[in-house]
Amino acid sequence: MSAIVAIVGRPNVGKSTLFNRLIQKREAIVDAVSGVTRDRHYGKSEWNGRVFSVIDTGGYVLGSDDVFEKEIDKQVELAIDEADVIVFVVDVESGITGMDEDVAKILRRVKKPVLLCVNKVDSSKRMDDTYEFYNLALGDFYPIASISGSGTGELLDAVVEALPPISERDEEDELPRFAVVGRPNAGKSSLINALIGEERYIVTDIAGTTRDSIDTKYNRFGFEFNLVDTAGIRRKSKVKEDLEFYSVMRSVRAIEHSDVILLVLDATRGFDGQVQNIFWLAHRNNKGIVILVNKWDLVEKDTMTTKAFTDQIHQITAPFTDVPIVFISVLNKQRIFKAIETAVEVYQNRSRKIKTRELNDVMLPIIENTPPPALKGKYIKIKFCTQLPTPYPQFAFFCNLPQYVKDPYKRFLENQLREHFDFSGVPISIFMRKK
Ligand code: GDP
Ligand code: GDP
Repeated sequence: MSAIVAIVGRPNVGKSTLFNRLIQKREAIVDAVSGVTRDRHYGKSEWNGRVFSVIDTGGYVLGSDDVFEKEIDKQVELAIDEADVIVFVVDVESGITGMDEDVAKILRRVKKPVLLCVNKVDSSKRMDDTYEFYNLALGDFYPIASISGSGTGELLDAVVEALPPISERDEEDELPRFAVVGRPNAGKSSLINALIGEERYIVTDIAGTTRDSIDTKYNRFGFEFNLVDTAGIRRKSKVKEDLEFYSVMRSVRAIEHSDVILLVLDATRGFDGQVQNIFWLAHRNNKGIVILVNKWDLVEKDTMTTKAFTDQIHQITAPFTDVPIVFISVLNKQRIFKAIETAVEVYQNRSRKIKTRELNDVMLPIIENTPPPALKGKYIKIKFCTQLPTPYPQFAFFCNLPQYVKDPYKRFLENQLREHFDFSGVPISIFMRKK
């Protein structure tokens, strides 16, 4: 679980430039490994060995100019709810504007760390212009130039300093953590109510180690698990419209804090772009995934079969095609037990450890039969492989020329691993190492 840093501020101050600078280095590595296109407004950053998530809230502003101002205020409020640290960006070129003052007013009331960041300080002349920002009454600020990166080191030092301590997972508590996520109206609250509505299933109510999220322990259908609820879900009534931004923030929080996500989608809407975003978010965070196709009661069964639906989804998630899909109707309480049972299985798959001996016995003959294609006349020889001692499945393949092994071959290896071992519902990472 990593902490969340939200970048807020009015349009054009340089939020997305700063965002790109903060995530750049690490994202490049992640993308090379997973080959997954990244969300342009959400990414991971690493500084002084600490990993954290960064959200560019500006990327989620919707609507025309006249609703802009209200949007920004709302965005800031939501960022305050969900983030651990808030980076407030202003622009030295334009000085303090009315919108800056509005945002500052909101932020002054906040208990969470707020780092004021004066951007576009490209020269020493500009440095002299920064002093007016003391008028925002947010204390000291960080003069930076996102475009060149100048000053961002100091900002990052301060960000890392302000992050909450890494929450040690309670050793005793090895229960699976499930999070229910999905688009607005998919039926998440209904599912949660169906699962936990009846108080008697609640074992204890522990305030989470992170401020806003609540883990509640349940014993249901004979399984014990923690349901990761977020402040967002509880405070839903505060936000009347369902902003995409809001649901992304909520999902990020819930996903990072869980082992397996129950991705609820509305059968009448399908596995659309926004659902896919949440899916890849979970995938990139190496979380187990169960897809719950809800409102199955509304679907004409002769026009749409479970097989057709499943094929459609798997086409998009390939080579990760063993993601379990459960067709449910929360309304009719259909297959809700199956959903939880499947989530428990995925949880077990995620902690599966294959012995090195067994892994090599299976994989080496396959590799021998179908070796990586030679590149520039050089033969690539994979000598052995091993599962890394990480909390989720990652595999290292040792070979003479690791940089020559391309993504299609890694996908082939992933397919083979999935075929021979049960990693259903679990993202797999494959690394090539020099030997
Ligand atoms: P956002 O709307 O807050 O996300 O702002 P953008 O990141 O899109 O930046 C708005 C404009 O400011 C772009 O033209 C950027 O190139 C420019 N900009 C961003 N950072 C700097 C900086 O450090 N110095 C200067 N001179 N321009 C910058
Ligand atoms: P959330 O925004 O994802 O929390 O969605 P809700 O749980 O509030 O559900 C949105 C709407 O879908 C509500 O009107 C529910 O009654 C309805 N709904 C939820 N599950 C089902 C289902 O299985 N079948 C049908 N027909 N409607 C459902």
